[in-house]
Amino acid sequence: MTGRVHSIQSLGTVDGPGVRFVVFFQGCNLRCKCCHNPDTWDMQGGKEYSAQEITDKAVRYKEYFGTEGGITLSGGEPLLQAEFAREIFEKCREKGINTCLDTSGSILNQRVKKLLEVTDRVLLDYKYTDDVSYRENVGCGIDKVKAFLEYLQEKNIPVTLRQVIIPTVNDTKENAFKLREIIKKHPIVDKVELLPFRKICTVKYENMGIYFPFGHLPEATAEQTDALYGIINS
Ligand code: SF4
Repeated sequence: MTGRVHSIQSLGTVDGPGVRFVVFFQGCNLRCKCCHNPDTWDMQGGKEYSAQEITDKAVRYKEYFGTEGGITLSGGEPLLQAEFAREIFEKCREKGINTCLDTSGSILNQRVKKLLEVTDRVLLDYKYTDDVSYRENVGCGIDKVKAFLEYLQEKNIPVTLRQVIIPTVNDTKENAFKLREIIKKHPIVDKVELLPFRKICTVKYENMGIYFPFGHLPEATAEQTDALYGIINS
């Protein structure tokens, strides 16, 4: 089976545990106003690879993965090509490579459920804690993401919950308290990552000739994310 891939990072350290081979899938069903990868949106873009080609490439880096690392499928939205992703994960598991999925959690169909059967960890981008913000800033309802997290809990799949902290949008104590509640209710969430909003992607929007909806907002600081971590861990 083949699928469309935007780019590959051979040895990444920020998308899942340990050192990882990160594959950014092409295509996204959402339009987040804070998106730092608008060049992954178009389903027709990127380059075609077979699942075998991706696996062969990942295997070459296996010695760097150690006990924690492995492969991460990110995007874009990897769930749009769930069968392709599943084949990669199946092949990687056969080679003893840990599998990690970075997703917005906005799609849950039979193909996605099959993919989750061969997923060791999910990095779930829980972008906001209320429905209004989701609809306004992402383009889907929070119910989809909630249902996805419930399913992960049911299947006992470990989750790293991630949220980009955007000044004046979700950098509030209220949001942190809500996140803390969500984490408490789902024991499968064993890690939380608050990622400071950055605008290094502005040049991508300029090159593509499209408007960056959150381009006027300030970047977040480590002090801001630290303060929110304090609430979440309290
Ligand atoms: S889900 Fe990810 S790739 Fe898609 S629009 Fe949102 S931030 Fe961008």
